[in-house]
Amino acid sequence: MKHVMKLPVYLDHHATTPCDPRVVEAMLPWFSTRFGNPASRSHSFGWEAEEGVNLAREEVASLIGARPKEIFFTGGATESDNLAIKGVVEASGAARPHIISCVTEHKAVLDPLEWLAGRGARVTLLPVDHEGHVDLDRLRSAIGEETVLVSLMTANNETGVLHPVGEIGAITSEAGVLFHTDAAQAAGKIPVDVEKMKIDLLSLSAHKMYGPKGVGALYVRRRNPRVRIARQLHGGGHERGLRSGTVNVPGVVGLGAACRLAGEAMAEEAVRIGALRDRLEKRIAEKTDGVHRNGDPRHTLPNSLNLSFEYVDGETLLMAMEDVAVSPGSACSSGANESSYVLEALGVGKELARSSLRFGLGRFTTEEEVDFAAERVIEAVRRLRRFSPFYHGTARDGAAGG
Ligand SMILES: *Cc1c(COP(=O)(O)O)cnc(C)c1O
Repeated sequence: MKHVMKLPVYLDHHATTPCDPRVVEAMLPWFSTRFGNPASRSHSFGWEAEEGVNLAREEVASLIGARPKEIFFTGGATESDNLAIKGVVEASGAARPHIISCVTEHKAVLDPLEWLAGRGARVTLLPVDHEGHVDLDRLRSAIGEETVLVSLMTANNETGVLHPVGEIGAITSEAGVLFHTDAAQAAGKIPVDVEKMKIDLLSLSAHKMYGPKGVGALYVRRRNPRVRIARQLHGGGHERGLRSGTVNVPGVVGLGAACRLAGEAMAEEAVRIGALRDRLEKRIAEKTDGVHRNGDPRHTLPNSLNLSFEYVDGETLLMAMEDVAVSPGSACSSGANESSYVLEALGVGKELARSSLRFGLGRFTTEEEVDFAAERVIEAVRRLRRFSPFYHGTARDGAAGG
């Protein structure tokens, strides 16, 4: 029987990923027969659950070169970011704590920073260049006496651009300030090692790496230096007091399995998915003019491709493109006609920023799907440009005039 491709094709893996069937398999018993509460110390149901959670803790730790004791389970990367940032600032006890971050961070970092700024903190948001990079000399000179934390993401969720986390860690550790990185997009896709990279706090999320939604982890360094953070949830004192609330055992087991699988497959997947991404870009660029790639193409996640199309509105393009699930600019910016603050920070003009599509490939993406998506993009761009009074196509885009 002929294989039939399932539609629509999903190319929005920055927003979320499907749960790997092996992850689901690993989770299932923890909903039914192994339903115990790891906080129950008086019987085997509790002990069993605690064992499951601790195995997951080892699996998460092992993916990022941490020790199991340094992993705290949370409800996802948003919570981890909040806990890290507010927790460090509060524990510092500083009257006017200074935090350094960057304009292209996720809202899960920017919003807590804004909240803190409203309560006496001083926040420096570093700009980025046209490729999406911060200037490390600028970072160095921004660090001062009152700086308690630098928070810079490992990989950007819109462009895939990678910050040089190892170099940043060297700078912060030498300056004696803490370094937090939001690795929600990077963890499981590229090697991250908290020791080598001198990362003090790291956020990750299960649903961005083929695990379940609503569960994540925060890594908190325990030695050299021992990082102090203030809990943000008060209650039963779970997770060694740092995050009260009964642990989501099936979710945590799923996160552990997702980390183990990602660690095993990472090298192979990066090559395979990277080749598919390059194929997608090449196909589109061969048949469409006025296409711009956003963000540094050399330092980026293997699965990421952010393209702007001249003379086309991204939202309209999305609607014209049936059967391909991608996001415009940012999945997280609300208003329909709002362009991406990340792309604007790169100096992409409002027009081009509004004409951008974010392609995110994943573990189960096939060549057939990539070719299908490329055709749909090419077709839709041509169709829309035919109606644009400003567009005068070149020979490469033959259908534009007709
Ligand atoms: C998805 C994402 C988050 C939020 O993660 P949740 O687990 O959905 O809360 C934070 N930061 C980045 C970079 C992300 O991509």
